[in-house]
Amino acid sequence: MAKEIPEFETDEETAKFWDEHDSSEYIEDAEWGQFEWLPAEDRCESCGGKMESKVVDIPLWKKYLTLSQVKVYHCPMCDITKLSEEGRREVIRIEKILQKKNIRELLPQKVIAA
Ligand SMILES: [Zn+2]
Repeated sequence: MAKEIPEFETDEETAKFWDEHDSSEYIEDAEWGQFEWLPAEDRCESCGGKMESKVVDIPLWKKYLTLSQVKVYHCPMCDITKLSEEGRREVIRIEKILQKKNIRELLPQKVIAA
């Protein structure tokens, strides 16, 4: 059973408390389990190497529309380009505007939506 964490008035008080106490006595293992480990966004899923970040213009929807200045990651080893999280959100936003069902239909074949 975990001990109860006292209420702190100031940040200094909080810091002092955790300097002097073992957090594992206050936080159950199960609570740590809630934190999900996410792989780094700039890691290549194929080779595991670090991808280069680039800003590109992506022609969408049969080139009638261009998404400009989108952040993507490129792996020079595998020649794979994938959208950054920020870029993916932007494509989804555009997708909603266009009422398209599938994000992949919008993207050129060489860009992975991931
Ligand atoms: Zn790679």
